[in-house]
Amino acid sequence: MSYDIAIIGGGLVGAGFALATVKENPKLKLIILEQYTPNFDYDDTTYDNRVYAISPNNFNKLSKYGVKVENIRAGIINQMSVFGTNSKIEFDRKDCNNKYLAKIIESRNLLAAIYSELSNYPQVEFHYGTVENIVFISEQFIIQSKDITIQANWLIASDGANSFVRRQFNFEMEEIPYYQSGVVANFRCEKSHSSIAYQWFLDESVLAYLPLPDNQISIVWSTDRVNELLNMTKEQFCNEVMIASGSKLGKLELITSPAAFPLKMNLVNSFVKDRVILIGDSAHTIHPLAGQGVNLGFGDAWELALLMAKTNAKVDNADLQRFNARRLLEVRKMQMTCHTLHRLFHNRNFLVDKIRNFGLNMVNNLGIVKKMLINTASNY
Ligand SMILES: Cc1cc2nc3c(=O)[nH]c(=O)nc-3n(C[C@H](O)[C@H](O)[C@H](O)COP(=O)(O)OP(=O)(O)OC[C@H]3O[C@@H](n4cnc5c(N)ncnc54)[C@H](O)[C@@H]3O)c2cc1C
Repeated sequence: MSYDIAIIGGGLVGAGFALATVKENPKLKLIILEQYTPNFDYDDTTYDNRVYAISPNNFNKLSKYGVKVENIRAGIINQMSVFGTNSKIEFDRKDCNNKYLAKIIESRNLLAAIYSELSNYPQVEFHYGTVENIVFISEQFIIQSKDITIQANWLIASDGANSFVRRQFNFEMEEIPYYQSGVVANFRCEKSHSSIAYQWFLDESVLAYLPLPDNQISIVWSTDRVNELLNMTKEQFCNEVMIASGSKLGKLELITSPAAFPLKMNLVNSFVKDRVILIGDSAHTIHPLAGQGVNLGFGDAWELALLMAKTNAKVDNADLQRFNARRLLEVRKMQMTCHTLHRLFHNRNFLVDKIRNFGLNMVNNLGIVKKMLINTASNY
């Protein structure tokens, strides 16, 4: 079996890329090789604790490509309050050109919606099983997965932060560990969240409250206290989160088991090597404090899909290098912004503390700078 494009990894970015490509050029023949068969059966009464803050720009792109998430299950951020030790910055949807700052969408809700739209396109095939070997012979990739061997002209790696493809083709990468994990969990709150997202830069950690429907929230707590937090009783854990947030939304009731994801920043030198292209977390990972990881990945997906579609999957080297340069620039800007914020807020030096509090308060009072920040974030 031979394909124009083989996509290794059918997560949000790989599936998003396949959909955008086939929408832009239905003549292309694609295969997604994903190790796990997805399970989209879920209980209507609970929310997935993997949620993403999706930017208006990406939500609009997904809608344009026919992706219909269950809106009733999505939260909306209309305002955001960010607290430093002695400072505060507030963002409001009125300061930007969009109706909301971001949508909070469960991973499974979004993935199910993308897969559902993809099912209308027989030219995109799926195979479930781990890709174990890839070789490049006579201008073709020969890819071996469970039970099948296929051939393809292009290899798109969307197989996540520990990418097998990236290792197999020796892409150069620097890994910067944060020695922290992102602890995620969902809660029902005593007080109304009023579609406001909150974020606290605490001494050693960053805690975010992301609004979900039915007055529930999802938290992301970037911290090195992972084992301690995960081994607490429900009551102790709720208490810790309430203390860290100054009981902003009153009493919390834990409604999903907490989970933790180790945090690191992967800096890959180039996303392109001959006809192998890395997108999403295989190409870059980022501290989650700005909720931009999958947004950056979708940015890669949309841009690469247009290039593949426009050239009938016969992209020349100059176009590929331009794609690489543009994406590297966008990705590095965001990676460095998040990294700097992380470093700045984890520096306990008295003077640094003064400067960052002064900086946050100043930006809060500078309407134009604030608007610029919001509009930049919503366009990712
Ligand atoms: C705590 C936390 C909170 C976050 N919050 C946000 C947020 O609010 N907003 C945001 O934009 N981003 C957020 N992110 C980042 C986001 O999770 C990632 O950027 C995103 O999931 C990357 O998607 P992906 O499709 O590139 O990779 P993945 O989701 O990792 O998908 C990779 C896929 O490849 C498959 N695969 C791997 N190896 C193989 C193989 N050998 N063969 C076949 N298949 C394979 C896997 O099964 C998987 O399905 C957060 C991250 C963390 C840790």
